[in-house]
Amino acid sequence: MTHNRRKYLWKTLTDLYGPICFYCKRDLKVYRFDDSRKLDDRMTIDHLWPVSKGGKHELGNTVLACLGCNGKKGSKTYDEITGIISFGLA
Ligand SMILES: [Zn+2]
Repeated sequence: MTHNRRKYLWKTLTDLYGPICFYCKRDLKVYRFDDSRKLDDRMTIDHLWPVSKGGKHELGNTVLACLGCNGKKGSKTYDEITGIISFGLA
């Protein structure tokens, strides 16, 4: 994963869905790379099918998620987290 490829993925996901968490729909904020605070609204990339289980780091398997939801999801799959995270569908 090169830096450019990573940047491309972030930009494409933001263009497609807006800077919004896939799970809880909150607005995401981009913090400086050297800002390592664990802020809940921090924009992260989440893998629907976890990399640890063979998921690819590419469009189609990635969504934007806040650090809060990403942390809750961990290495679980999309199916496994249903019921754990509010999807903002109410
Ligand atoms: Zn979220």
